[in-house]
Formats: sequence, structure tokens, C-alpha cells
Amino acid sequence: MTPEQLARKAKYAKQYRLLNKEKLDEYYREYYKEYHKKNYAEQSALHKKTGAYYCRGVVRYTIKQGRLLSLSENIVKCTDCENRAKVYDHRDYNKPLEVEAVCSSCNAKRGKAILKTGEPYKRKPRRKMCDIETLENV
Ligand SMILES: [Zn+2]
Repeated sequence: MTPEQLARKAKYAKQYRLLNKEKLDEYYREYYKEYHKKNYAEQSALHKKTGAYYCRGVVRYTIKQGRLLSLSENIVKCTDCENRAKVYDHRDYNKPLEVEAVCSSCNAKRGKAILKTGEPYKRKPRRKMCDIETLENV
């Protein structure tokens, strides 16, 4: 395709998006609903099993009651560094109210908490992209 043809195509696509905004919005809404169902069902099931889901609910309720500071409405310093705390971190999902206010990067650095079952979190083994042995045979 020549640059003129590409420009014309882009112009037409933009026009189409403007004219069919509602139709496309509806399409993408449905598309992402399906996408979310497919990709997050496993993760949310895991969160329910580990106790993370329950603990988050308890913290949310406690904030609503006013027994814990809301981190979006108050400026709280991170426990580990100087940044502003964004989330409450659980170290043990058996103790839903033992939380520390941390920033997002410290939360990521801290890693996974102890699960409701008392076992440490184990990451699922990664799927192999390719086998070295099969590559050597090629
Ligand atoms: Zn921090």
C-alpha cells in the first residue's frame, strides 16, 4: 500500500469509529467481559482460596467503620520507605487486621503473604516456551 492509500485508510477508520461509537462501545464491552471471565476466573478463585479476598473485604469494612485510616483520603507514610502509602499489606492471611500501610513498590518487594491454610505461597511452574532438546534436534 502506498502512503496515500494508508492515510486514506486511517482517515476512513477514524471516521468509522466516530460514526459507530455506540456500536463499537457495545462490542468492546462484551469483548472485555468475556476476556475478563476467561483470564481472571482462575486468579480470583485462587484469591478466594488463599484468603486474600476475605482479608481485603475485612480491611475495606474496617476503613468504612473508621477504625483504619483510608489511604486515599489521608496521607500516610510507607512503613518501609519515605513514599506515600497506597495499600495495606498483609503478611498473614490468617490475621485479616494485621496490616501495614505500604507504597505499591514496597508491596511488590514484600512478596506473597502466608496463606489461609498456613502454607507459604508457591508460584505455579511456568509453561515452557520451547524445549532446548527439541531445538537441538532441528
Ligand atoms: Zn515504600
